[in-house]
Amino acid sequence: MSSCQHLEGEFTVQSKNCQYNADTIISDYTYETTIVEGNVVKPVKSKMKFRTERKVPKLGVMLVGLGGNNGCTCVAGAIANKLGMTWETKEGKLKANYWGSVMMASTAKIGNDTHGNAVYTPLRNMLPMANPNEIVWGGWDINGMNLGEAMKRSKVLDIDLQNQLYPHMKNITPLPSVYFSDFIAANQGERANNVIKGTKQEQLDQLRNDIRNFKTNNGLDKVILLWTANTERFASIEEGVNDTADNLLESIMRGEAEVSASTVFAVASILEGSTFINGSPQNTFVPGVLELARQHKVFIAGDDFKSGQTKMKSVLVDFLVSAGIKPVSIVSYNHLGNNDGKNLSAPSQFRSKEISKSNVVDDMVASNRILFEEDEHPDHVVVIKYVPYVADSKRAMDEYTSEIFMGGKNTIVMHNTCEDSLLATPLIYDLVILGELCERITVKKEGSEDWEAFHPVLSLLSYMLKAPLVPNGAPVVNALFTQREAVINVMRACLGLGPNNHMTLEHRFE
Ligand code: NAD
Repeated sequence: MSSCQHLEGEFTVQSKNCQYNADTIISDYTYETTIVEGNVVKPVKSKMKFRTERKVPKLGVMLVGLGGNNGCTCVAGAIANKLGMTWETKEGKLKANYWGSVMMASTAKIGNDTHGNAVYTPLRNMLPMANPNEIVWGGWDINGMNLGEAMKRSKVLDIDLQNQLYPHMKNITPLPSVYFSDFIAANQGERANNVIKGTKQEQLDQLRNDIRNFKTNNGLDKVILLWTANTERFASIEEGVNDTADNLLESIMRGEAEVSASTVFAVASILEGSTFINGSPQNTFVPGVLELARQHKVFIAGDDFKSGQTKMKSVLVDFLVSAGIKPVSIVSYNHLGNNDGKNLSAPSQFRSKEISKSNVVDDMVASNRILFEEDEHPDHVVVIKYVPYVADSKRAMDEYTSEIFMGGKNTIVMHNTCEDSLLATPLIYDLVILGELCERITVKKEGSEDWEAFHPVLSLLSYMLKAPLVPNGAPVVNALFTQREAVINVMRACLGLGPNNHMTLEHRFE
């Protein structure tokens, strides 16, 4: 019998380090790190307080690319869960769930019971957080198809479920969007029948109005924007164009061609005080956007959902390197037949994806100087092909070759088949739930009078992202379980609990 115990409901922490007030939870926390100077290693402690606002706001999420496979699957999934839908398949009756969402469907060890058995809690019970069932979903798409039809077009969900969802989806129509044909593949041109006309400045102003109207019309406290539209080509970073916040705003005003649609959305979002999350690989966050986010103290996070192949890679390479095994060749093939695949069949959009997929093993490789010399990397190749027949059911084939003990070689081959959008959609829920929670957490460092928010580049969302954006100078962490532990331990800190240390000393002595 399993010795795991579970805390099913909400819980309270009983400690002088954790104080529950009507509106906030305030914790006293000692952050322990280790500083290394030359050959000297010194433990360092710093004291701080975490403050978490308890009231979960009425949240609206505006998706850019609402009518796409991810966009409509996200809305469909939330409706199906909210209404507790069940549907018939040839394998029997299925029920709506949030599986694949770390915030909604995973658990974390919170402590031990009095017999020393591990006790787990659903992550969603650790702190007050938004529930996707209660989120108001909306957004934009360059294609005006209503979400009922878009769901049919995506061919992602089972037909009985689609039939039940259709009446709830057919009246949701995406807002007209900003479309710059030069940034996404030419093969997307025929979809663009729902676009905002006018100058770049007028388009920006329209997006800002859309955000405000969405907030007012739905009585929302807060709106978050998330880009799940097509992958754009990289924008070139040019002096005087997008290198500073002022230059970027002026570039939009004068209609500069090198400002992408996703960057215009990011600017609109920041100017409206809404967190902006980029689920695609392109460099939406040009230096001008980074500066603007800092000026306005608004969160930005990206880039590119870490859903399938890359998620596996950030687990497997971490395992290999931390086991003392040297991966020397990583070759990844993908083929997919959805509209994302069609867009990625154009070279410059593929290039954006290739860049975002290419650096995911760097931190793990760099961590082991026994196996890898400075600047030594495994060969790493990524191939993506568009095969319409497989539709959203993406195939990913990976071959990892490693050097092992005494000159031996080990080859691991993996074949991964899955509906792409059923992997990505739960990440959308996670990104907005965690992003929103982070907006309610502030920190007061010892000796300071001020409560400080997280850095505007919200790197805590890295778990869900393939090419994590981090504050200037901060190390990028791709290793999946390190990213997950960071999220859990920050939540624990908000409750005045030390980090999970996995030492289980209570079981290691007689
Ligand atoms: P999709 O092509 O089905 O959907 C994209 C939608 O964006 C389309 O409906 C399109 O009309 C719309 N669009 C394009 N340009 C737009 C603009 N300027 N404004 C508003 N809408 C616009 O693609 P998808 O499968 O939903 O994937 C969406 C994005 O997520 C892609 O960039 C993809 O690379 C990224 N992504 C997906 C996964 C995954 O599905 N597993 C993983 C990582 C990243």
